[in-house]
Amino acid sequence: MSQYKTNEEGFYGDFGGAFVPEMLYPNVKELRNNWQELVEEPAFQKEFQKLLRDYVGRPTPLYYSKNLSARYGAKILLKREDLNHTGAHKINNTIGQILLAKRLGKKRIIAETGAGQQGVATATVCALMGMECVVHMGELDIARQAPNVARMKMMGAKVLPAKSGSRTLKDATNEAIRDWIPNRKDTHYIIGSVVGPHPYPSMVAYFQAVISEEIKWQLQRDFGREHPDTVLACVGGGSNAAGAFYHFLDDEKVRLVMAEAAGKGLDTDETAATGHLGRAGVLHGSLSLVMQDEQGQIIEPWSISAGLDYPGIGPMHAHLLKSGRATSYAVTDNEAIEAALDLAKTEGIIPALESAHALAALNQMAFRKDELLVLNLSGRGDKDMEAYMRFL
Ligand SMILES: *Cc1c(COP(=O)(O)O)cnc(C)c1O
Repeated sequence: MSQYKTNEEGFYGDFGGAFVPEMLYPNVKELRNNWQELVEEPAFQKEFQKLLRDYVGRPTPLYYSKNLSARYGAKILLKREDLNHTGAHKINNTIGQILLAKRLGKKRIIAETGAGQQGVATATVCALMGMECVVHMGELDIARQAPNVARMKMMGAKVLPAKSGSRTLKDATNEAIRDWIPNRKDTHYIIGSVVGPHPYPSMVAYFQAVISEEIKWQLQRDFGREHPDTVLACVGGGSNAAGAFYHFLDDEKVRLVMAEAAGKGLDTDETAATGHLGRAGVLHGSLSLVMQDEQGQIIEPWSISAGLDYPGIGPMHAHLLKSGRATSYAVTDNEAIEAALDLAKTEGIIPALESAHALAALNQMAFRKDELLVLNLSGRGDKDMEAYMRFL
């Protein structure tokens, strides 16, 4: 049994579990009792793999970057999740969850979204499957993220404004939970990262594991070995990192590295580097590292990248850090921007701001000669052009 899988109660070491209000317990229990058996059925696997291939566009290439390799003195490979349909890894998980929802007999999908990426990934698979889709989104975020709201609407989703509190992601999450409790019979809640109550972290990691599954055979094909020396990925909630690490978790020879958003700096109030600054606490139904003040109030995080602007981190990642299995580097907004501009100029690839944090972390790392490093390029930068334009 891998020490990086959960126990029965959903704990990775000290972190995880299902800390939910009693009214939500039946919803979580239904998933917990059924998900693993359902996804392991050959018919499920067949449909999942076929959609990943024909709809998402997998396998994504593992691209050897000559320029980055020459600069850092290591063999640097980019896992091109940016080439997926909708432009990032999130769709691997939404495809998996909607197939699961269908097999659980659900007719309606809900999701919550901050900047809109998860809302778009969910609206996409609902359109594909002809399922009703409701996306809860903070009223303030709706105003700030007009293009993503338009995308969701164009694909037939209903976007419901969360009008309480700060009218952002946290409030949208509360609304989604409020929606789910009375509607369990016909509704599945798609969570977009390896966060939330058990079994979500394990389930999302399982769907994203296709990333490292491909890395293994691509390395074998191109370099004659299945294992890289290092895997590097950015971490918001942690799903793209979980997918890139998954099949290497128990191979201690493989170094696992996370890049987190330091925002304006670790010593400022405007940061989102939970692995560095967080303390144990419960957020969104699981016990993990959380950015909180002395009273346990959640600290509003900051990152220039919407996908990393989250006050927590998945329980698997908290465990990986605590056990010393993984290390984390904190990357500032400016460092990420610089790395993105550099990749665009030297490789002709415009990365998502999130992924640019992983690129910038290379500057803080030391390498053995000819070290084989896979960097998970989680998404493309089209959505971030407004931010990049200020630096051109
Ligand atoms: C959402 C997002 C992330 C952060 O989410 P994880 O769950 O940590 O992977 C990273 N990169 C991109 C492109 C995203 O859209």
